[in-house]
Amino acid sequence: MEYKASEITAKYLRSRKIPSTACSGCGLGMNHKVVVQAIGELGIEVADVVWGTSIGCAGRQTFATWKGDGFAGTHGRVYAIARGLRIALPPEKKIILTVGDGDAFGIGLMHLIHAARSNADMTVIVNDNLGYQSTGGQYGWTTPQGSHTDSSPYGMFEHNLMSDGMDVMHILKGAGATFLARHVAMDGARAVETVKKAIENKGFSLVHMPYPCPTNFGSRELGSRNQVNIYKWIEKQAAPLGQEKEDTVWATGIWHDASNSRPEFSEFVHETLEKIRRTGSI
Ligand code: SF4
Repeated sequence: MEYKASEITAKYLRSRKIPSTACSGCGLGMNHKVVVQAIGELGIEVADVVWGTSIGCAGRQTFATWKGDGFAGTHGRVYAIARGLRIALPPEKKIILTVGDGDAFGIGLMHLIHAARSNADMTVIVNDNLGYQSTGGQYGWTTPQGSHTDSSPYGMFEHNLMSDGMDVMHILKGAGATFLARHVAMDGARAVETVKKAIENKGFSLVHMPYPCPTNFGSRELGSRNQVNIYKWIEKQAAPLGQEKEDTVWATGIWHDASNSRPEFSEFVHETLEKIRRTGSI
């Protein structure tokens, strides 16, 4: 089903939280719209979703915008809370998390790996503003090499999860994630289609979504808060998978789709416990 932006807002989001307090020109709203649009097009209702958020710009600006049930996790711990909820909630209830890059790929990486390992049914949207922007603009674990930030005035030179051929997606794939994808905020309808697939996977899905932060990242790296500059800068360094160029930082599209190929965490736990009750063994 096709939705206009105003219809999405009215149906799924709390009007008192819109517009958010994000800086003018922040790309986070584009990512949020992609996810809510995907939910709408799948015909999912407000009551069908529990929405979790984390710390930082990504969590702060999306917290409590969802009209239905939601929760906020401490930094990096939202995946552990979601795994607990997965056990407690009916299997048809969707769990969607919006988190930042520092939360997912920094302090929370171990919890994230265990959510992937167990194939817990949840959809994690990593809104990546290319560093720690809510604390003023320090580099993080997916900040592109050479970028100038508050803590890398000569350019980001520390090896991270997106340098020297490394990609955080490989770590998550190795951990057992059953759906992995990446889109930049400007991917629009392409990103909506991907997020729909992520939500439909009965298992652990993650969509990595770099977006423009004009206030901190843009002003340090490009010398101005001009929103168009940072939007173009990100767009220039993104390319669909298979069409990467030498300077491509973000290869976009579906990285790994093994949807519904492994037992889902909560179903597996409940089935195993039931068997133990019946037979006294696993
Ligand atoms: S600091 Fe950057 S990422 Fe955070 S709300 Fe402002 S523009 Fe968006």
